[in-house]
Amino acid sequence: MGPQRGELLRMELGIATFEDLLYHFPYRYFDRTQMTKIGDIGPHSEFVQIGGTLINVGEEGDGRKKRLIATLYDESGRIELIWFQNINWIRKSLVEGSRYVVFGKVANFNGYYNISHPEIEALNSETNIPGMQPVYSTTEKLRIRGITNRSFAKLTQALFEKIRQHDIPELLPAELLGRYRLCNRYQAMLWLHYPDTELHAEMARHRMKWEELFVSQLLIARLRLQHTVQPGWRFDTVGPHFNDFFNKYLPFQLTDAQKRVLREIRQDTATGKQMNRLLQGDVGSGKTIVALMSMLLAMDNGFQACIMAPTEILATQHYNGISGLLEEMGIPIKLLTGNVKGKERKAILAGLADGSLPFVAGTHALIEDTVVFQNLGLAVIDEQHRFGVGQRAKLWKKNELPPHVLVMTATPIPRTLAMTMYGDLDVSVIDELPPGRQEIKTVHRRDSSRAQVMQFMKAEIEKGRQAYIVYPLIEESEKLDLESLMAGYEQVKMWFAEDKYKIAMVHGRMEPALKERNMKRFVSGEAQILVATTVIEVGVNVPNATVMLLESAERFGLSQMHQLRGRVGRGGEQSYCILMTGSKVSDESLKRINIMVSTTDGFKIAEEDLAMRGPGDMYGTRQSGEMKFRLADIVQDSGILEETRVAAQQLLAEDPRLAAPQYQGIRYLLGQQKEQSHWGKIS
Ligand code: ADP
Ligand code: MG
Repeated sequence: MGPQRGELLRMELGIATFEDLLYHFPYRYFDRTQMTKIGDIGPHSEFVQIGGTLINVGEEGDGRKKRLIATLYDESGRIELIWFQNINWIRKSLVEGSRYVVFGKVANFNGYYNISHPEIEALNSETNIPGMQPVYSTTEKLRIRGITNRSFAKLTQALFEKIRQHDIPELLPAELLGRYRLCNRYQAMLWLHYPDTELHAEMARHRMKWEELFVSQLLIARLRLQHTVQPGWRFDTVGPHFNDFFNKYLPFQLTDAQKRVLREIRQDTATGKQMNRLLQGDVGSGKTIVALMSMLLAMDNGFQACIMAPTEILATQHYNGISGLLEEMGIPIKLLTGNVKGKERKAILAGLADGSLPFVAGTHALIEDTVVFQNLGLAVIDEQHRFGVGQRAKLWKKNELPPHVLVMTATPIPRTLAMTMYGDLDVSVIDELPPGRQEIKTVHRRDSSRAQVMQFMKAEIEKGRQAYIVYPLIEESEKLDLESLMAGYEQVKMWFAEDKYKIAMVHGRMEPALKERNMKRFVSGEAQILVATTVIEVGVNVPNATVMLLESAERFGLSQMHQLRGRVGRGGEQSYCILMTGSKVSDESLKRINIMVSTTDGFKIAEEDLAMRGPGDMYGTRQSGEMKFRLADIVQDSGILEETRVAAQQLLAEDPRLAAPQYQGIRYLLGQQKEQSHWGKIS
């Protein structure tokens, strides 16, 4: 390839070497044995591959409605092909009267079938060779410059003619290949690009997925091994602060689950090794008190502790909650966020540096370089997934030994995901809600019954309760968000007369001071209704609130709805979650809503969410490259994941440093993966 096209390929797809090209796997194959006859296309047809002669290429409409239309026919029938975009260059590439293979999704238009934006490729002697032909992804820029699927196929064909088996050496030890029935690496690469049969393609995919997942599990297992030898502060006393709090100031009895988790934390921190523990507990399960008591434990052993939250509101809430509980004990805690400035900030930084301030709650502001602790012994991190995973590391730098780390999350993490994301952490689960909680009743209501819904809310407020009304974020436009929120707010005011009801409003674009003031009006009970965007999603605690009304619920994600629902049902009263939608709701949205109505089990919801959305989406890790797999999908391939986890652990148990010569290939893979994903920085 010439230097210019080569550069374009590098820019567009990151392909600069033969190896990169090898890893540019086809996402599909043309299988010449799997052609559909055009005449057989019917209402049941979805994606089809057809072959025929192209005629009647022409444009219709004009301006924005302009489209390119062509007809493809074979001996059984004809079908229309349509393009709405890139009309000019597609038109140039089509030759009337020539034969093509076409792949695409069939649409039914008044009984006439068509395929819009099909993949189309000239049917020539090359495409006629038997077996399965690779279909490679390319980009628009590349296509415009003539680098099409066909060009890729030529490149990979040329490559496989050049290279021999020893050019793609096996990297996994023979023993693993045998035990897990994996084909060799050269074979897998060849079959991924040029399988003879679907079975071969599947065997090749399986082998490469296995390798990917195995490497990720090795990295995690190694990290975990490092943790277990990483020295940490020894908390060997349970002293007066912990005991005093437990005996005199604890406002309720701990649940058994809370006690168990505290025991686990005490055991961890007494070993002289660093604790890296993930505390999972559904919303409202009472994680805060566990955090506080762990902080008291740190203090009893002469250490400082911090609690870090992803948002100002949450940090403030932790600060308020904890300072309230500590008030009578006379233990100081301060709040450090980006908004704390000037003198106050200076005083906090000084207190942390000289050790006179034992506790601090805060946001990202806590990991800024100017924040130096005298002896940080424990870092509690709330709602981890909102932080870039790498940020956990930042607190470490400030000490001679790293602090113990307690990561708390209310997002139940499905097992497969936990294995890839948090596999290096020990996990504690609070699987029990504080006593007296009642299941939140969840219903789906359409706009047509809005009057009844509002009536119901009024009745709840009459009883002295409070209510949330939440509007979705419309990602594309913050401005639109605000508009829909404002319109909603006006509507709410029409239902709830201002002389009788107090309504507070918060949204992401509000001045922090105002947001906080409004939030406080609701938290204090002065306002009965809080109109908000999803800024209140995580962690806000108003036990007196019993109604959560989600407007345009079809726009919310599952986990998000679950989090929001968790804002109610935090006191002893029966609580309600009302999912409002318009009359038309897509099947997918309806599925989400039905899941919400049918269960309050956070784990079930998280599993469904993962299945519906995929992990990257849920945890914002796809872009940050924390678990980028070329082929593997941790939901669909959870079986392979399990297998590789066991294999990784066994291997490390035998040879923790992977020093044996037969592990040279694995060491190479690990080095590559680490470069790509900065795994070393994760915790
Ligand atoms: P989350 O796990 O969602 O952070 P919180 O720590 O905010 O939950 O606790 C939710 C509510 O439950 C708070 O009002 C808290 O005071 C209360 N709570 C926590 N533990 C108990 C308990 N053992 N008994 C009664 N109430 C509790
Ligand atoms: Mg919380």
